Amino acid sequence: VGDASSAVLLAPALFLWWKEPRFTRPMNGWPEAGLSAGLLLGITAWVFLQPEQSPLESGLVPLILLPLTWIALRCSQRDAYTLLAMVFLIMLGGTLLGRGPFALSGPEVALTTLQLRIVVHGAVVLLAGALDLERRKAMLALAELNTHLEERVAARTQLIEASRERLRQIVESLPTPMVMSRAKDGLVVEINEAAAHCFGFRRDELLGARTVDFYVDPEERDVMLARLHEHGVVRQHELRTRHRDGHTLWLMISAALMPDGDQEVILFTFQDITPVKRRERELELLASIDGLTGALNRRQFMLEANQRLLESAAQASPLALLILDLDHFKLVNDTRGHLAGDEVLNKVTATVHATLRQKDLFGRLGGEEFGVLLTDTDERGAQELAERLRAAIEAMRIPLADGGIIRPTVSIGGVRASSETDILPTITDLLSHADRALYQAKATGRNRVVFWQETLPDKPQMA
Ligand code: GH3
Ligand code: MG
Ligand code: MG
Repeated sequence: VGDASSAVLLAPALFLWWKEPRFTRPMNGWPEAGLSAGLLLGITAWVFLQPEQSPLESGLVPLILLPLTWIALRCSQRDAYTLLAMVFLIMLGGTLLGRGPFALSGPEVALTTLQLRIVVHGAVVLLAGALDLERRKAMLALAELNTHLEERVAARTQLIEASRERLRQIVESLPTPMVMSRAKDGLVVEINEAAAHCFGFRRDELLGARTVDFYVDPEERDVMLARLHEHGVVRQHELRTRHRDGHTLWLMISAALMPDGDQEVILFTFQDITPVKRRERELELLASIDGLTGALNRRQFMLEANQRLLESAAQASPLALLILDLDHFKLVNDTRGHLAGDEVLNKVTATVHATLRQKDLFGRLGGEEFGVLLTDTDERGAQELAERLRAAIEAMRIPLADGGIIRPTVSIGGVRASSETDILPTITDLLSHADRALYQAKATGRNRVVFWQETLPDKPQMA
């Protein structure tokens, strides 16, 4: 008994009380610990202290293991050993009093059995304690890992913030216009002064603005975004945007899609090419206009006339072409000088412009020859308009610098194209017919209008 109590029970219990003399709150609170201890001591007392002996009790002895194991797992090892010592004392007391299941055999066998029992119970407490220790260790390691992980996440977040700040500083200080917008909704997350200045704003006024509001045509934005999402980058893409004061800002943009933390952003750099575009437009205009009179030149007149011819054919609407040629113009040049001739050309152009309707096409075909295309105009309408032109020019009095006055006249050859003819005439066909009519007008006295018909004599060919 001495061996058993000292080696298996008292020594560990005393050692543990020496290490930790204070009562500490059990892990899951007093009610659970009290209930388990009560159950343990109650079962032990009931089995070992009741006066009547029955063989049933020996079968009930292992029941003690249940609350004991529970306590060893859930409370401290010290408490488990202390309770085991109390259990041993109850068992010992009961057996010495001749009660309990072991008292049935002789005292030596009873005490040896008791000793063996306690050794087994002590081993169970030890095992459960060891398991509990492992569990605590694992939980501790897990908690440590968690704090470590949190530290690493915090460090990484700081790193991202730092690089974001660095990028922001780079973007801000660059002289090249740069805008960074959120891919999902196009909100401006970063913009530098250079870019804001292009649009007529301060940088802070555009932070958080919607990029979509700046496009002249949202469809152009969709096309650019589609290309960007397909290839990841867009280079040298021309776009029309709107300046703060409303004028169109032509931009040559390059854009790249890039990740920024957990979202995607688009980084735009661009160049304001509005002056280039303006110059381009001016050049285009210059290339299509006659330098002296400001009317369309022959090339542009033919181009637009062709276009209208096709449109009229598609709509089956009638159309007419007139060629105007000033009469005896060489005489003006010869007698009044070339500058006077130029003046006459300008004045006649202005008169024709004033007489024509908005929708009519007018151009200088060359020299003192002009073309007029009348769309949506039947034969009578064309005749009337040609006559009106002729009369308006005849009524002109052009004063010259030398005090003289020129009274110009014009001969007009006309041709009409209607949907009745199966074959679609080309503008060249129409010009050649009108030219034949013009020849007829010249041949029959000038200052008159002649419309083409099949019976007109052919123009004599130059040798
Ligand atoms: P017609 O009644 O038969 O048409 O006689 P015309 O003298 O007008 O004869 P033609 O059509 O052959 O003469 C055209 C003249 O127009 C020749 C040229 O000196 C003159 N001319 C052509 N272009 C210009 C121009 O830009 N400025 C001036 N001043 N004269 C031009
Ligand atoms: Mg001529
Ligand atoms: Mg002429």
